[in-house]
Amino acid sequence: MYDIIILGGGPAGLTAGIYSGRANLKTLILEPSLLGGQMATTIEVENYPGAGPDDTGMSLAEKMSNQADSFGVEVKYETPQRVDLEGKTKEVETDNGTYQAKVVILAMGREPRKLGIPGEDELAGRGVSYCATCDGAFYQGGDIYVIGGGNSAVEEANFLTRFADKVYIVHRRDELRADLYLQDRIKANDQVEVLWNSTLEEIKGDTTIEGLVIKDTETGETREVERDPKRPLGVFFYVGSIPRTEVLGDALELKGGYVVTDENMETSLPGVYAIGDVRDKKLRQIATAVGDGAIAANAALAYLED
Ligand code: NAP
Repeated sequence: MYDIIILGGGPAGLTAGIYSGRANLKTLILEPSLLGGQMATTIEVENYPGAGPDDTGMSLAEKMSNQADSFGVEVKYETPQRVDLEGKTKEVETDNGTYQAKVVILAMGREPRKLGIPGEDELAGRGVSYCATCDGAFYQGGDIYVIGGGNSAVEEANFLTRFADKVYIVHRRDELRADLYLQDRIKANDQVEVLWNSTLEEIKGDTTIEGLVIKDTETGETREVERDPKRPLGVFFYVGSIPRTEVLGDALELKGGYVVTDENMETSLPGVYAIGDVRDKKLRQIATAVGDGAIAANAALAYLED
């Protein structure tokens, strides 16, 4: 029996772990893949206070997880398959066993949304990617098509020019959603070109991308882009993300798939908190994720003392 089980080891979950471990609560973090979550897949972290030019998302993740470890927080790399959050004793079942706790903190974050176009699944990992930090280096001297027009698409397109000669942003409208300061960066970068009013309809190829079908959303016309045989061609999707709330079923209140909380991060179920990107909120950043984590751990402590 744990005092607190935290589902997810991104910045929100790690912060909740640091606070609860430091308060001597028996704490378990269940993380399916990589401590640090989405932060760990980002190279440049410019807007997290204290992060300097030598820090990367991964190095921050390491610092946060070392800090949690120093307070005795246990980490298991397991995926929750079923949760029972309603009673006083909460249960989380993974492939490896069933864990019990008095409090559960949901910090599962989000995962990249897929477009579901032909070739996307078939060529995933063979030209199709959702992580510039992980896969950008494969496209040295090549061409990259970034799909989307939000902060992620624009920021990562700029980053990918470290590797590719040319990066095209394929955006379905004539105006980007990204913050203006990020838009200014790509305007100043002649390796980036925006293909306005365009959508990617199909990715062609068997073992590597050979061509792309791009549609003009104004005229409805499609055109095919063929891979230059001498250059690698990659497609990076940044068309938003979806919260990882499938395991919750209808156990608690959700809004648009995100978990609804009060200002103490408490959900519609007593003793269950939600933090970070999985929570229904306006600003999803590392800074807000760690704030959520601190608040939830503090509220959980008060709940346990009660
Ligand atoms: P986002 O803001 O939701 O943007 C998704 C983009 O994908 C939009 O431009 C959208 O087009 C496009 N899109 C969605 N569905 C599409 C479809 N079916 N076909 C074609 N295009 C499609 O997602 P995000 O960029 O991943 O950002 C998520 C959150 O993280 C935001 O709150 C963002 O501010 C934050 N973030 C912040 C930073 C930073 O502060 N440095 C960096 C990265 C992310 P429309 O514009 O037409 O809807």
